[in-house]
Amino acid sequence: MALAQIGVTGLAVMGRNLARNFARNGFTVAVHNRSPQKMHSLIEDHGSEGEFIGCESLQDFVDALAQPRTIVVMVQAGGPTDAVIDALVPLLDKGDIIVDAGNAHFPDTRRREAALREQGIHFVGAGVSGGEEGALLGPSIMPGGPAESYETLGPILEKIAAKAEDGTPCCTHVGPDGAGHFVKMVHNGIEYADMQLIGEAYSLLREGLNLSPKEIGDIFADWNTGDLDSFLIEVTAEVLKQTDAKTGKPLVDVIVDEAGQKGTGRWTVQSALDLGAPVTGIAEATFARAISSQRAQREAAREVLAANASDFHIKDRAGFIEDVRLALYASKVVAYAQGFDQIQAASDEYGWDINRGDMAKIWREGCIIRARFLDRITEAYERDADLATLLVDPYFADAVAGGLSAWRRVVSQAALAGVPAPAFSSSLSYYDSLRAERLPAAVIQGQRDFFGAHTYKRVDAEGTFHTLWSGDRTEVEA
Ligand code: NAP
Repeated sequence: MALAQIGVTGLAVMGRNLARNFARNGFTVAVHNRSPQKMHSLIEDHGSEGEFIGCESLQDFVDALAQPRTIVVMVQAGGPTDAVIDALVPLLDKGDIIVDAGNAHFPDTRRREAALREQGIHFVGAGVSGGEEGALLGPSIMPGGPAESYETLGPILEKIAAKAEDGTPCCTHVGPDGAGHFVKMVHNGIEYADMQLIGEAYSLLREGLNLSPKEIGDIFADWNTGDLDSFLIEVTAEVLKQTDAKTGKPLVDVIVDEAGQKGTGRWTVQSALDLGAPVTGIAEATFARAISSQRAQREAAREVLAANASDFHIKDRAGFIEDVRLALYASKVVAYAQGFDQIQAASDEYGWDINRGDMAKIWREGCIIRARFLDRITEAYERDADLATLLVDPYFADAVAGGLSAWRRVVSQAALAGVPAPAFSSSLSYYDSLRAERLPAAVIQGQRDFFGAHTYKRVDAEGTFHTLWSGDRTEVEA
């Protein structure tokens, strides 16, 4: 029997579909799962889609693979991933490649890569986005790990990845060790921000214009034909148009308003704090999910907290809808700009040399944040690979400027009406902070010097200074 070109261990929803994707693309795939039923059911249900080699034991699995072996591990992140790697490694040879395609936290990937490198095994942490359907039909793949492993792995992954409209595979070597999982993490963080912004647009249209979810769904479907064209807008339109079969109400009205999270948003924000990367949109989105889940606190507050809000008085309904669309677009540009800044900050910190334009390219299809917008980001980095921020690219600077008055109107209307719009408003504050001539940071430096002698710099002289606050308040050079 011919040996397999690739192996997949871990055949739950993701691994099963990835294995099918490999087989459908002409690869012979060795398949293994801790409990063999999942392996048997894959072959029973889909064996006709291509060449599978079913393996009951890890030893059979390893023996079924051509050398150097390429093994995709698709199991639960954390301990289970370590358990599988520990069981595999004694069976492997130098030069073999292990690809962790699960949602690992990037410091774990760095640790695993360093440990396996010592044993001569290539360890590739690969972010895979697109959910179950993406895994089967073409995900966006973000592999990290040693560059030389990509020579073997690249052509295989590129074959099964989604393809952008211009035919480019949505897969590229991101950078060494944990770079792939890092970029996938930020992708998910941006996804949090995007979802929150869309949620806020929904709230504003609902509260401001008294529209039904279905009517808002129709507006989103219309937006999906323009600049905002994206998977997330499309999905939102579908959700809003759905009627609950039990009650006849809009489905969104019978769903409990507590947003769950699996942790990638939190990881993104934690890393951003470490890197000093101000991803305010992602942070607001992550905290907004946390607030939504504070049920007892929300109930207590609802009884007590005053609103002192005025109703929306919107005469120009079409104008308001357009304002919300423009505010959403501008806030979205900010959220993506911040995510790309965080990638750059990590790339500098860890020496990954990540090409941000390539990241925009591989997110154009296959992944959850796929959008027409990513073509614009790709073009922006093609114009200038070293952009200080996406916001200064001429296309985005103009696009945001065009919607700026609308953005300010929407944020102030939301504040006056007492409708929470944390991501819209923090994005606008971020934008204004970037363009401000002077920030109140000078006051903070004064405060710090007053109570902690932390010193400050002057605008008109080199050096570091301290005022003798508890003395005669003269300034000394520190
Ligand atoms: P999952 O529910 O996260 O994991 C189940 C798989 O892990 C099963 O194959 C299970 O084997 C195996 N497993 C668990 N503990 C194990 C251990 N100690 N030793 C060996 N195998 C073990 O599966 P999933 O939803 O398909 O996700 C797989 C990975 O992809 C995860 O890291 C997930 O975060 C990531 N991911 C998921 C999605 C998604 O949309 N679901 C999207 C992107 C990435 P048994 O069958 O024997 O229990």
